[in-house]
Amino acid sequence: MDVRLLEATDDPERVVCLGARNDYMSDFVGDQSFEEVMESVDGGSLEEKKRTLIGHLLSHGHFGPFEHPQITIAVEGISRSCMAQLTRHRHVSFDVQSMRYVAFDEVDPAEVRNGEMVVVPPSASDPNWVGRNQKSGAVDEETVKERERVFTESVSRSVEDYQELLDLGMAPEDARFVLPIGTEVNLVMSMNARMLMHVADMRAAADSQWEIRELTESVLDIAAEWCPLTFEYYDEHMKGRKNRLAP
Ligand SMILES: Cc1cc2nc3c(=O)[nH]c(=O)nc-3n(C[C@H](O)[C@H](O)[C@H](O)COP(=O)(O)OP(=O)(O)OC[C@H]3O[C@@H](n4cnc5c(N)ncnc54)[C@H](O)[C@@H]3O)c2cc1C
Repeated sequence: MDVRLLEATDDPERVVCLGARNDYMSDFVGDQSFEEVMESVDGGSLEEKKRTLIGHLLSHGHFGPFEHPQITIAVEGISRSCMAQLTRHRHVSFDVQSMRYVAFDEVDPAEVRNGEMVVVPPSASDPNWVGRNQKSGAVDEETVKERERVFTESVSRSVEDYQELLDLGMAPEDARFVLPIGTEVNLVMSMNARMLMHVADMRAAADSQWEIRELTESVLDIAAEWCPLTFEYYDEHMKGRKNRLAP
């Protein structure tokens, strides 16, 4: 998968601080400089004051101000299974590549065997991979080779059948019914910083599936560049604690 930043609120932590300080000031926040707004917050420099305030907000569960900054991220090449999990989050906005208007008529089914178009789970090739809800443990090389054969033959046959249905004049929106749930999809998603932390609470957790965890870790890397103080605090003090932002 490829996960990239498209757009994000400039200086997001300034916006968080302005929102939060507004709540406790008699004067209008719009009439003051950022230095004046932050004057009573502990810290030598403006950066230290921001760190103090953001840590204070997160440790006290005052999450509202983190709803002001917005981020838009593009994701390439996740499975439709992963997409279904991700799009359950109702405060994230999505644009998802259409299978009605984008037809996979030029994909070579032989290339699908090599990993094109359909996401191949690690359990199809790694004998030591043990997924959740798996009845058996690690397996030998021969068994995993057989798994890989069944998996790749099945997905490439689906693509062949799909293309045959297109050749028989079926609309892509109906022919797609035979494609596997592992078929790759690209999407664009937007959310605020609070929601990003909530998605991470749920989807970076150990009980989430490997693919959405990998995606969430990439999103968290982008978030750490975008809102460094917030996601440094999140990583040190909040990550791994279940459903903290939306109990
Ligand atoms: C490991 C794992 C396994 C899962 N397995 C399943 C499964 O088997 N089947 C299944 O259906 N789902 C499953 N889910 C999805 C899960 O149940 C949630 O639907 C999904 O993660 C969205 O998260 P959320 O409920 O926090 O809602 P979000 O849409 O992310 O909303 C964030 C928060 O806003 C509030 N909120 C949003 N909408 C409402 C509302 N209408 N009313 C009240 N409060 C609201 C809630 O506090 C919510 O937590 C699974 C999730 C995980 C992480």
